Amino acid sequence: MASFAIENGRRERKFRLELLFFLFNPVLILSRNMPNVVKCSVHGCPNTNKTHHLHKFPQNDVNRCLKWVRLSGNPKLLNVPLKDMHKKKICKDHFSRRMFWNNTLKTLNRDAEPDILRNVTPLTTDQLMAASEILGKSFQVTFL
Ligand SMILES: [Zn+2]
Repeated sequence: MASFAIENGRRERKFRLELLFFLFNPVLILSRNMPNVVKCSVHGCPNTNKTHHLHKFPQNDVNRCLKWVRLSGNPKLLNVPLKDMHKKKICKDHFSRRMFWNNTLKTLNRDAEPDILRNVTPLTTDQLMAASEILGKSFQVTFL
């Protein structure tokens, strides 16, 4: 009986410790204090909206959107439905000067595409074709 009580006490302490750890977990605290951190979708790029201006994927232009997906070299984007692509972004570092509307370098041209992609291997047309069902159906791969 006594050993049972001790065992229970230990369990109680362990639970309290776990609760404390959960409440003061640095990762959770960090994510609580930094909502809406959006990362650049280019494979291997560490930039976020906290440090860089990001540009939305052109969701309304399927072919151009898929071209951005291809150029980004990021296979995770293949699992994102087209309707959610506007949540994905690419940072300004991947666009050369001529892709911008004006000197403020905030607004892209209508036909802009990321053209500064060092050490990025674009996705293959086969990969895009395989994901076309998820991405939002019909598009013409010939344009990519
Ligand atoms: Zn980037």
